[in-house]
Amino acid sequence: MASAFVSDKVLVDGLIRPATVLVAAGVVTAIRPGVDTAGAAVVHDFSGRTLLPGLVDAHVHLNEPGRTEWEGFATGTRAAASGGVTTVIDMPLNAIPPTTTEANLDTKLAAARGQCHVDVGFWGGLVPGNRGDLRALVARGVRGFKGFMIESGVDEFPAVSPADMDAAMAELAGEPTLLMFHAEMDQPVAACAAAPTTYESFLRSRPDTFETSALATIAELSAKHPATPLHVVHLSSAEAVPILRDAQAAGLPISAETCFHYLYFRAEDIPDKGTHYKCCPPIRSTANQDVLWDALAAGVIQTVVSDHSPCTPELKDLATGDFHKSWGGVSGLGLGLPILWTEARKRGFSLAQVSAWTAANTAKQVGLAGRKGTIAVGADADFVVFDENKPFVVGRENLVFKNKISPYEGAELTGTVEATFVRGREVYSAAAGFAAPAGELILERRTA
Ligand SMILES: [Zn+2]
Repeated sequence: MASAFVSDKVLVDGLIRPATVLVAAGVVTAIRPGVDTAGAAVVHDFSGRTLLPGLVDAHVHLNEPGRTEWEGFATGTRAAASGGVTTVIDMPLNAIPPTTTEANLDTKLAAARGQCHVDVGFWGGLVPGNRGDLRALVARGVRGFKGFMIESGVDEFPAVSPADMDAAMAELAGEPTLLMFHAEMDQPVAACAAAPTTYESFLRSRPDTFETSALATIAELSAKHPATPLHVVHLSSAEAVPILRDAQAAGLPISAETCFHYLYFRAEDIPDKGTHYKCCPPIRSTANQDVLWDALAAGVIQTVVSDHSPCTPELKDLATGDFHKSWGGVSGLGLGLPILWTEARKRGFSLAQVSAWTAANTAKQVGLAGRKGTIAVGADADFVVFDENKPFVVGRENLVFKNKISPYEGAELTGTVEATFVRGREVYSAAAGFAAPAGELILERRTA
């Protein structure tokens, strides 16, 4: 039995226009211009609000099992649902064990089952010594792999060397997967006299050269392994953008993401002891941020993700406020759409463009193009109902994730998520709250 989703503003084929979207068995079966609900047993009329494809957040640390006090499948996916995120892809590290072998993937899946409010896919991990596990994990449906080029922050997920990266690229050549890197490499750092509770002292400890040296290494290895698609997670440095642009211009398959927090916060505004802003690579200057926006506009950076990476209040240690000792990671899962839209509209970008960066392009990155991140016939009926003109101030109640520590608290944003649908089913509405968890684990093998 079909249901109809109607609005005067529906994002279809890159344009926002009046349309009726027909859904049966969780899949979009037809899209009609204007209002035409003939044959529909149920009609959802969202006129006045915009119907967008649900967001695909390709970079989320759910941390379960092993560090479930940091987050967890239930709380993390509730936060996602509250913000119109209908698919999250879980990162391989910070859970124990990390997702680096088939057995560890099984442990992760057992922990996830029955708890998820939205659909969840999985990245695998690249660590020294697990090259032989990679192809098996591809066959099991992991979307790709992430490796660290610098210390990750947790002992069980060591960094890879350029030699490890080279070997992994050879191993995965021609496979339907994506090899991703945390692109910072340790470089000599000038001494900084500033106190460790100042943001300046932290920023100087993670200079642009960490990212530029890593990008140069990635580009060099990519030229040697052009049959292995690569991706740079959470690009932060403007100085790394030209290296990426030149590599892409030379035809190398290297994509990149940046994060909501790099596009919204500026180093100049971060207060002393503001360790809830700490992440690696760091939030940089206003001038740096302008270059990231330009890189998005030019398509050098294709996607925007949360890198939601929470921890317990003790590890953030706001009381002491020592940036060097605090856990690095920003919490913001579920706030991404209004954050990005608030800043994007000021800079003259359209809501359709914001959607492309956070839904269609991320779906493509994770091998789910056509199924997720788009309102199109044959795609899953994953929708967010967004009132793009309704302002709100981020309060505790908007921090739906487990540990309510976020630099976004108090932010004045434009655009409110009213409801979220996953495969045609309402999983969240501002009025009614959350439905019981019925998210699926995405384990189909990538084809591209
Ligand atoms: Zn991360």
